[in-house]
Amino acid sequence: MVNQVYPKLEVNLSYLRENAQNVISRCAEKGIDVAGVVKGTTGFPRCAEQFVAAGAKWIASSRLEQIEDLINAGITLPTLMLRVSMLSEVPEVIRLCDWSLQSEMTVIQALNEEAGKQGKTHHIILMADMGDLREGFWDKDEMIRAAMTIDKEMEYIDQAGIGTNVGCYGSILPTVEKLEELVALAERMEEALGRKLDYISGGATSTVMRVLDGNVPERINHLRIGEAILLSVDLPLYYGYDMPYMHRDVYTLKAEVLEVKDKPSHPVGEIGVDAFGQKQVYEDRGIRKRALLGFGKVDYGSIEEIFPRDKGVEVLGASSDHTILDVEDAEREYKPGDVIAFDINYASLVYVTNCRNVNVEFID
Ligand SMILES: *Cc1c(COP(=O)(O)O)cnc(C)c1O
Repeated sequence: MVNQVYPKLEVNLSYLRENAQNVISRCAEKGIDVAGVVKGTTGFPRCAEQFVAAGAKWIASSRLEQIEDLINAGITLPTLMLRVSMLSEVPEVIRLCDWSLQSEMTVIQALNEEAGKQGKTHHIILMADMGDLREGFWDKDEMIRAAMTIDKEMEYIDQAGIGTNVGCYGSILPTVEKLEELVALAERMEEALGRKLDYISGGATSTVMRVLDGNVPERINHLRIGEAILLSVDLPLYYGYDMPYMHRDVYTLKAEVLEVKDKPSHPVGEIGVDAFGQKQVYEDRGIRKRALLGFGKVDYGSIEEIFPRDKGVEVLGASSDHTILDVEDAEREYKPGDVIAFDINYASLVYVTNCRNVNVEFID
């Protein structure tokens, strides 16, 4: 193992825990149980523990290997698989996940058979597509027929409820009308099944807006929440929610300065394409002081997703393993060996936590 300090991601666990408590308690007041979604930090068990401490009822991820890590780390809450299952992963879903979201009868049939083989009951939430056009039944009559077949024929499946996902592909908002439509569908299904459903799962972070507004329909009693807790950026930034009780600095990404030099701001020579095959445009601002950092797109994805904390520092560009800053107007004088801190967003969070090149340090 190479013993390298930077790039480093610092994760403040008490901030994360307080974020989780703030959101989960507000949901609890409305009778909503929360599945803590940890895929944003690549399922780090230390992060999942904060959701557990804050009262999450499930730990959820979209990736099986993360769920396995959580179980191996001693997380004992029921696990919820968020991504509807591949037929090929059914045995592992049954082995690792107590709950899953599902939308295809062939897969649910296979889950039933496998659960029987492994001597388990597997709980599912049947997904309805309410317009965001990712996973879920579009034809709601077909969905109700499917639910009836599951109840009648699938001994090892507990069909615990229905749910929907919005705001991921189609950018659809969980308006009161959308959620009422979901509740109406659940009630139609209950009529057909002759029993109550345990859960109506009304979405993810974007549905937290309805909780904060106090207009979430009463029968919505389950949410799957990641971003609002992990980062708490989307609701204040895109929808103007004032959430002064949330920590927006759970993460600090740090990189080390390799080189500081005055250089022209426009490349010198004949221009082709950059390291990733892109045609770039370079503004000529004359000679400027630049700092070169020892991390790059492999670590965080794209320069639009990292935000220097120091004033006057501008990210000019990056290749796989280098990032170039303009520090001409910075308040600090930088030299090789200095460390520069960045805020990150959801996009860069998923990259840096997935990158084995980034040292992760948990702060209690
Ligand atoms: C990722 C995911 C969530 C959580 O989304 P956030 O916006 O991070 O709260 C919920 N449900 C499903 C199906 C997901 O894939």
